[in-house]
Amino acid sequence: MSLMKLTAEQKATLAKIRHVALDMDGTIYSGKTLFSFTAEALDIFTQTGVGYTFLTNNSSKSASDYLTKIKNLGIKADESQIYTSSLATIEYLESNFGKNKKLFIFGTLSLRREFVKAGFGIVTELDGDEPDIVVVGFDTELTYERMCKAAYWIARGKPYIATHPDKICPTDQPVVLVDCGAVCACLEEATSRRPDIVLGKPNPCMIKGILKRHALEPCELAMVGDRLYTDMAMAVRAHTVGALVLSGETKRSDLEDYSPMPDIVASNILSLAKAIRESKYR
Ligand SMILES: [Mg+2]
Repeated sequence: MSLMKLTAEQKATLAKIRHVALDMDGTIYSGKTLFSFTAEALDIFTQTGVGYTFLTNNSSKSASDYLTKIKNLGIKADESQIYTSSLATIEYLESNFGKNKKLFIFGTLSLRREFVKAGFGIVTELDGDEPDIVVVGFDTELTYERMCKAAYWIARGKPYIATHPDKICPTDQPVVLVDCGAVCACLEEATSRRPDIVLGKPNPCMIKGILKRHALEPCELAMVGDRLYTDMAMAVRAHTVGALVLSGETKRSDLEDYSPMPDIVASNILSLAKAIRESKYR
């Protein structure tokens, strides 16, 4: 593989990188198949002293579920290397409301457990308790009762937080996976309210959590992903380095009238990893 052509400015940018936040689908795998170059790229990051965190907007699975998923794909990782929109939501709640709050969670059992693990109280549609805050996630186990109760508390004016904006979850199966954003649109029809805040990509809270975890300056972190309007938009908002990979949704031709241009455009994460190594050891 030929090395990427980089400007002196791009080399200086890459030389500062200490950590990469990796989007998953389209960046390290496609659907259920790990890209052939992913393992080598991760090895290069490790050898170069660059840490990495896997990032996902999907709040239907917990960080430990995701860990199992990527381990099954053959990637070695630990739970501290996974960052989901649920974790971004937990950090947002902790810093804006404190932990001593009862949450009504429109989400999977896995999501509810993640909030309990973080120390929050939970009320459900089955008990009569009044929550302090409503959190809506990607609820692949949703019931009509849960939806109606969520709408009730939202209509009563409770703080209303969505874990991420995605309207559908990509799939290669003959089905549309209705995601958090579409459920929020449904709740809006019923309550005339939109979420007070939507975490997940492209909200820079996703990146801020990782900067905090690893005590990084924004210029030391590269957000690596295949989508301009989420991954690269978030990099811009968080003032981190944006590295677009062309192994997923975006084609080179999509960049023709796109602004601002990502800091780095690489064919895939392996060429990016090699470019970071080259820039650090010149
Ligand atoms: Mg992607």
